[in-house]
Amino acid sequence: MLKELIKIKEGIIDILWPKMCLGCGKEGRYICKDCEIFLSEAEISERPVMSVWQYEGLMAKLISKIKGDGCYDIINELIDKAFEKIELTLPADTYITYVPMCRKKEKRQGFNSAELIAKKVGEMTNRPVVSLLEKIKDNRPQAGLNPPERLENVKNVFRSKEDARFNNVLVVDDFRISGSTMEECFKVLKFNGIKNIRGFTLAGII
Ligand SMILES: [Zn+2]
Repeated sequence: MLKELIKIKEGIIDILWPKMCLGCGKEGRYICKDCEIFLSEAEISERPVMSVWQYEGLMAKLISKIKGDGCYDIINELIDKAFEKIELTLPADTYITYVPMCRKKEKRQGFNSAELIAKKVGEMTNRPVVSLLEKIKDNRPQAGLNPPERLENVKNVFRSKEDARFNNVLVVDDFRISGSTMEECFKVLKFNGIKNIRGFTLAGII
């Protein structure tokens, strides 16, 4: 019933505010078939964090539309597209979590894009999504800071919510610049006894 109501609501929203391609303005989707070529895939590396696309051009525009304008339904379209390109193999006992936002900021924005991405990744991979971290300090945005400043800026801003003894955890975020935020989350989770931690972001500067 709830799913049907959501579908009806989405249908009404589509009529009132039709989706438009952020590349060329064509109606129907946020990224039309012709503009897909403007999304550059990130290089697959052995790093513990997997990013699907390079954080640049159209991708940067999409992320800022999600975060700045609250167009979070872009996430579904991007994750569907991501899973056509990548293979995310997760051990059966993997739990998915996400980089948290400071509570006040999340309330103001109305959603945490990392959490929405995690939920969609959970749906696609059939793994449970759990909230393992909380942000206890409101720091400056990482963009615009140099690498040492970024490291310092995220130091001790996260705390583990519970003593979760999981074997495998995947930490999800929307995008990463230097990876300092992810590293800090990994550090906190490791300290709490989680053995294998990997990361996933839609986009990254690599
Ligand atoms: Zn287009």
